[in-house]
Amino acid sequence: MDEKEKTVRLADVGELESSLKKDLAEEEAKGKSADILFCESIEDELSDLENLPTIDPESLRPVSEWELNPDRWTCEWFRCKTCHHLSCCADPFCGGCGAKMKNAGASTDDLNEPQEETFDMG
Ligand SMILES: [Zn+2]
Repeated sequence: MDEKEKTVRLADVGELESSLKKDLAEEEAKGKSADILFCESIEDELSDLENLPTIDPESLRPVSEWELNPDRWTCEWFRCKTCHHLSCCADPFCGGCGAKMKNAGASTDDLNEPQEETFDMG
């Protein structure tokens, strides 16, 4: 087993993203002769990059955002997208995971109901 401690690398993936998007656009511009597998793998990579946890460079905190709590009983309108911590107001930081919230101060009208996983019983 690898005993080495895993190091966290703070990297700006923006450049990689734009380079991948450029490659994708060039390949798609070929139309019918475009390599579909190549395009699909770039699209996968882009969505992986988008889903990477992000850290605010100033506070060095993870970044998350509030979403509507679908199982609300009382005043707990908001739910952290990352750790599902519930809150009555859209605080600047999550009380559960400590993330800096991108949409602190949002009102319930600003937020959409999160997409819950549904199971097709059909
Ligand atoms: Zn959280």
